Amino acid sequence: MTSNPVDWAAATEAVRQSNRIMVVTHVKPDGDAIGSLLGLTLALREQGKTVDAAVDGGTPAFLKYLSGSDTILAHLGQGDWDVMVSVDASDEERTGEVGAYGRAHSPLVVNLDHHPTNTRFGTVHLVVPEAVSACEIVYDWLIEMGHPFSLPVATALLTGMVTDTIAFRTNNVTPRTMAVTQDLMLHGASLYEIIDRTLGSKPLSHLELWKLSFPSIEFDRGLVWATITLESLNKVGLDDMTDGGLVSLLVSIEEARISAVFKEQPDNKVEISFRSKNGYDVGSVAFGLGGGGHRQASGVTVSGSLAEVQQRVLPLLRVLITAPSTP
Ligand code: 5GP
Ligand code: MN
Repeated sequence: MTSNPVDWAAATEAVRQSNRIMVVTHVKPDGDAIGSLLGLTLALREQGKTVDAAVDGGTPAFLKYLSGSDTILAHLGQGDWDVMVSVDASDEERTGEVGAYGRAHSPLVVNLDHHPTNTRFGTVHLVVPEAVSACEIVYDWLIEMGHPFSLPVATALLTGMVTDTIAFRTNNVTPRTMAVTQDLMLHGASLYEIIDRTLGSKPLSHLELWKLSFPSIEFDRGLVWATITLESLNKVGLDDMTDGGLVSLLVSIEEARISAVFKEQPDNKVEISFRSKNGYDVGSVAFGLGGGGHRQASGVTVSGSLAEVQQRVLPLLRVLITAPSTP
């Protein structure tokens, strides 16, 4: 239909003409994934649409405070839709099994995302790399549609604004970010409650995982990395979940330029999270390995043992440190 990076009119037309809408987001969803998924889903339901929302595995526990989160499906086994909207996912694979099912049962796909590495999959694109979160794009789309913000929608959208900027601490935050935030707060969303629930609390199992993983931390000329083994994950009872922000802690070390956390997965795979200081584009490193993300926060899952993957990936990070890109 179109290949414009941002086609509000086509996207609005696509949902206006649809009765049954599917909304999906990326696997291992974070606050922005669930926030943008729910913000859009609830708003479209307020417009009288029949909307299904789905993400592999369902809503993570720390985001269950969001109203409507109990309606998010963890699996799809039936259904047909007039359109599927994918939010916060930079490629089709990231939308997991529910995304594959939704795509096969929807004639049209709207790709709403803010990752610079977005592959422009789908029929209609709302891809805005300048947006600090997918929630900001949903906010703009709802304004475009003339849809008023209810409290549940404002709370869902403010959640992604907060989590993707780590409470407004990333270098892409602008006065506009704060204007959107202010507007969502004026619609009743509680900034304190959202920060407290998302960034301000961690389950004890994260602390236990950190205790086991800290001895693995290594530092070498601006590069700091840690290794999380399957054994540690099993010991603390975490399987596939987040590591609780260890990679962000590592990059906050004054001498660090780039941080990486290598998390062993079943089936001889390793999930890697990257973070960097301004000027070091870890998004392109992840993209080159088949993953994606942002300049300063990215990730990928690659095949191989921990040792093999580190041997392959650490040199790429060392090259980046010696030849940083222009910010
Ligand atoms: P995190 O390290 O918090 O899991 O992810 C950081 C950023 O990289 C997020 O924007 C996330 O969506 C992206 N990301 C993480 N893993 C992958 C991956 O396997 N593929 C892609 N395309 N993006 C990823
Ligand atoms: Mn996001």
